[in-house]
Amino acid sequence: MIRNARTQQPGHWYRIREIKKNLFEVHEPEHVSFYILKYDNKAVLIDSGLGLDHKEAKKLFKSLGIKEYCVMNTHLHCDHVGLNYRAKKVFAYKKEWAKYSKNKESKHTSIYYELLKDILPWPKHFWLKPQHRKFKPTHFIKLSKHYDFGPWRLKPIYVPGHTTGSLCFMEENSNVLLLGDFFYNGILYINLEDSSITQFEKSLNKIAALIRSKKKNPLLLPCHNDIPLDVRYIKRLETLLKRIKEGKQKPRGRWPFGRFFLPSRIFVYRDVRILIRKDQLMKWKTS
Ligand SMILES: [Zn+2]
Repeated sequence: MIRNARTQQPGHWYRIREIKKNLFEVHEPEHVSFYILKYDNKAVLIDSGLGLDHKEAKKLFKSLGIKEYCVMNTHLHCDHVGLNYRAKKVFAYKKEWAKYSKNKESKHTSIYYELLKDILPWPKHFWLKPQHRKFKPTHFIKLSKHYDFGPWRLKPIYVPGHTTGSLCFMEENSNVLLLGDFFYNGILYINLEDSSITQFEKSLNKIAALIRSKKKNPLLLPCHNDIPLDVRYIKRLETLLKRIKEGKQKPRGRWPFGRFFLPSRIFVYRDVRILIRKDQLMKWKTS
């Protein structure tokens, strides 16, 4: 399935894998991945990672022969927008940008960096002080449109749940579905201020129907955990939601709430783990 599973490391940080011809997964160890879809010496990025170090970014693009790029953002969490500041164009969904600006989410970046510093094996010579580099969308994504970048054709799909303005992108020509943080086989955070379990369930139904309508399963590319994601994961996620609603699934515990998270309950079914806001749980279960 994977064209060239060999991982390349252009500097001290990023790990690159060519998933399909000219479609690269860029992994930031222990944390997040984003995607580079290349054409000529240009590229469109689906999200842009943490953006920790300017020099590492330079090495990344140089190693792939990329002179300029645009970013299509699935959502605007700080581990998805890090290299937006270097992009020629930044495409984001208006609703997500409105929330990001209103809640001053750019301030989350330095807090987040501090939290990660204890977890991640960051190279010692890396930046000394984490820095958030500002960006602004140059274009707002329209759901009715396709976005063409060379041979790549991206269709945005609105999938609120994790955040209020989350998108997925279907790449039509290579049958790839870029999921952002919609789902992946790690803990799903549906416990943020703008998260909604009701919307998440609707979005899941929409995507599951889309996948089932296709002759061939699309390749599922999330931003965390297993890449690509096994399509059978969706069934297990649907089962968990159903079990919670039917009262068959008890929460495994609480989740400490703090800067980012609201009080929530964690539910676990096989490899599916989901955090649901306590204040939304009852209403959703009886809906
Ligand atoms: Zn996110």
